[in-house]
Amino acid sequence: MSIAHEYPKPERLAEWESVMKSFRLTEKEMTRLAEKYPTPFVVVSLEQVAYNYRFLREHMPMVNIFYAMKANPSPKLLETMVELGASFDTASAGEIETLHRMGVSGERMIYANPVKTPVGLRAASNCGVRRFTFDDASEIPKMAEAVPGAEVLVRIRVKNAKALVDLNAKFGADPAEAVSLLKQAKDAGLCPAGIAFHVGSQSLSAEAYVEALLLTRRLFDEAEEAGIHLTMLDIGGGFPIPGEDGKDPCAVDIMDAVERQLERLFPETSIWSEPGRFICGTAVNLVTSVIGEKVRNGQQWYVLDEGLYGTFSGAMYDHWRFEICSYNKGPEQKVTLLGPSCDSIDFVKRDVMLPKLSMGDLILVPNCGSYTTASATTFNGFAFAQTVYREDEPEIFEIGQVPVQERLAYA
Ligand SMILES: *Cc1c(COP(=O)(O)O)cnc(C)c1O
Repeated sequence: MSIAHEYPKPERLAEWESVMKSFRLTEKEMTRLAEKYPTPFVVVSLEQVAYNYRFLREHMPMVNIFYAMKANPSPKLLETMVELGASFDTASAGEIETLHRMGVSGERMIYANPVKTPVGLRAASNCGVRRFTFDDASEIPKMAEAVPGAEVLVRIRVKNAKALVDLNAKFGADPAEAVSLLKQAKDAGLCPAGIAFHVGSQSLSAEAYVEALLLTRRLFDEAEEAGIHLTMLDIGGGFPIPGEDGKDPCAVDIMDAVERQLERLFPETSIWSEPGRFICGTAVNLVTSVIGEKVRNGQQWYVLDEGLYGTFSGAMYDHWRFEICSYNKGPEQKVTLLGPSCDSIDFVKRDVMLPKLSMGDLILVPNCGSYTTASATTFNGFAFAQTVYREDEPEIFEIGQVPVQERLAYA
């Protein structure tokens, strides 16, 4: 399972220390790819995936990475994470079995869906997955029966006003119940190992993490008093990537703040994080083209060959506002972009500033690797956007000739 690509060298990482870079096709690369592949297609940079992983490791050395593969389970992306030595956050039998088939041992997985299915628990048992999260007492007998003695973490509810996607509306036990739940797990023959939280996805501030860590520290102490020694802390995901303005949201500040608190509050604890978006979001660009145009309500509308049922599905499920780029020159005007399907919900984005486009012109959508392809459908018979890997296109990317920094720099 070897992949022909170069990872950024550690000495380069030092240069990139605090400014997050993201993969962005140049005009020439985009044009040459579009000569080779029909649009829509997505281009995945495995080098960027490796960079993102190392960036997390550099800034939070105390933290083990369990990639939340739901964000983007492209096979080569998963292979890259396996090669880099990452572990994985899984949520279903399908995810556990996919990794198992790739040779990933159960030791490197956590089944982090608070409510597990019977087939999921069977897969966990068969594949040697022995770590679970849960947020209700009703889950305890299920886990105890499927994997006796498993290490379990209570997922608690935390607050975050500054997250794009609030995961605490659906998940998490009341922190006041956490220790009691751990005790019940112990009585059922499970190993009460720790606490998990997720501050919400695309979190734009460190405060939520810091608050959650302070709360968790109190719960660790409370558990200790109750005779339960906790050894694991799962700080979830949530680390942010550039949004529609393409600017770095300073995930590095969050990581640094988290690492400082961990050193202070949890020096002895085994810590892990479950980043999804941060690993894959910046590693993918979509290339789509204009297939139709009309003027409505005095505004220019363009129809693209990719829409809300495809890679732009993130606009729906992930509340994501995509950055839309064109290399065309000339004055910009406010336009609306639509997808190709026959559903009237299929608006990609309204009121985007873009230069004049013509039939067949290419649109570039950077930072679209998370919660996009993963939730795309073939509704109305439109095929999935083809996945192209940067590392499989050595001529187009002149791999080894163009300095990596140039490609990774913001436009
Ligand atoms: C989705 C999910 C993640 C990943 O979250 P990101 O915000 O993409 O980093 C991590 N942990 C759990 C339990 C999740 O459900």
